[in-house]
Amino acid sequence: MTTELSHWINGQHVKGGSGRFADVFNPATGEVQAKVPLASKDELDAAVAKAAEAQPAWAATNPQRRARVMMEFVRLLNRDMDKLAEALSKEHGKTFVDAKGDVQRGLEVVEFCIGAPHLLKGEYTDGAGPGIDMYSMRQALGVVAGITPFNFPAMIPMWKFAPAISCGNAFILKPSERDPSVPLMLAELMQEAGLPDGILQVVNGDKESVDAILDNETIQAVGFVGSTPIAAYIYERGCANGKRVQCFGGAKNHMIVMPDADMDQAADALVGAGYGAAGERCMAISVAVPVGDETADRLIEKLVPRVEKLKVGPWSDEAADYGPVVTAAARENINRLVQTGIDAGAELVVDGRGMAAPQGYEDGFWVGPHLFDRVTPDMDIYRKEIFGPVLSTVRAASYEEALGLAMDHEYGNGTAIFTRDGDAARDFASRINIGMVGINVPIPVPLAYHTFGGWKKSGFGDLNQHGPDSFRFYTRTKTVTARWPSGIKEGAAFNFKAMD
Ligand code: NAD
Repeated sequence: MTTELSHWINGQHVKGGSGRFADVFNPATGEVQAKVPLASKDELDAAVAKAAEAQPAWAATNPQRRARVMMEFVRLLNRDMDKLAEALSKEHGKTFVDAKGDVQRGLEVVEFCIGAPHLLKGEYTDGAGPGIDMYSMRQALGVVAGITPFNFPAMIPMWKFAPAISCGNAFILKPSERDPSVPLMLAELMQEAGLPDGILQVVNGDKESVDAILDNETIQAVGFVGSTPIAAYIYERGCANGKRVQCFGGAKNHMIVMPDADMDQAADALVGAGYGAAGERCMAISVAVPVGDETADRLIEKLVPRVEKLKVGPWSDEAADYGPVVTAAARENINRLVQTGIDAGAELVVDGRGMAAPQGYEDGFWVGPHLFDRVTPDMDIYRKEIFGPVLSTVRAASYEEALGLAMDHEYGNGTAIFTRDGDAARDFASRINIGMVGINVPIPVPLAYHTFGGWKKSGFGDLNQHGPDSFRFYTRTKTVTARWPSGIKEGAAFNFKAMD
């Protein structure tokens, strides 16, 4: 039976009014399991107007009380962890353990937000001049919005709304239309945790509602995560409309393998980082760069049996290494790119094309694991983000060549180096023009109290996601200079001058 999903407005489920819907699939079976409404501009604008009515009282609630809502939300997330992970897996396709990780990495940002009263403290200078004190405060922006991708339907919405709401803003969440159920469940939990109605509005939709967000004059800031072409579009249109905008885009993450690396450790890391979640992670490693032919031969020898052994399966299969990809269209795109690699002369050393679907799940969106060797930088499989279980190996003759490859690529989200040489690792971390770097760590996702963000075409805007940067992004600073009567009479002043 197909469920009709809703929006979440003013603390309740609201049916879609536009008459437009998108199909939500169970990627393991290929079945349409729900229909999600796609909001019109009018529906989006109405949700924003209600949020704007609710926001001043929330901003005036003291920060510790706001933090208590986050504290309770953490408790509820832990209580409902399995329920959330199951719903997530059924729409996204990732394994149950991985889905719990998705919720967990969002929950950790909520935990960080419990420290909001401390993070929102301003600065104060006592006696900046005679009888003069100066202080800065961080104030909420008002109504802000987040537009999120399909691949982390719990974590990324929480990365956005938890800091924004902790700062005293109201938040409009436009989740991915491919897996919208968990964001709706999170909104219900936020209400149960004590959040006043209207402070978190979940408006489902597609380009029409995104454009309505970008053009809405009440919305002060927009945070986006998704593919680079859409990130660039949102950044440009949002900025042109005078909003504060941060957009995080696609990736092509390189892992350099030095000749002195522990080759078993490197191969295990590549398999986990390249094929976990079917490669549908912005921090997935999609390019292995062994340094020297001998290193490459040893690495490929270790990788092939590991990749051939990978097992796909539905979320409920505990033995599965990864699940299906999100839609049939995603599968076709991956298969098309794999074919371009073969046509361009790359060596397909593990060919996932013949992989049989798990029994009983023949209509799911399965993609077998692929491993390419002898990929060159001019090939589409190297230049483009594939977002599937496909690992490309580019052989580099030297460390400098390997470094140069990663530096010259248009994306700059994450990267890693595997080596036993501290000097090489240190040089790599210092010179690389990429936002997140792992040293013998393949997926260097920063923890909640650091910040997450890529460089080059992977990140648009000045500030990163979560950590202290998120509190800067969702507030603005006001600086007050105050003089209380001290008997000093200076007369009118026409020039800037020192305060002493
Ligand atoms: P996507 O760009 O297709 O969609 C992201 C959001 O944009 C969705 O909410 C979608 O509804 C909306 N959207 C889609 N097309 C639009 C259009 N034409 N106009 C306006 N809005 C539109 O991305 P996706 O497929 O959901 O997610 C995968 C992508 O996200 C990958 O490229 C991945 O690397 C990237 N990603 C990046 C990060 C990061 O932090 N850098 C994290 C996760 C995912």
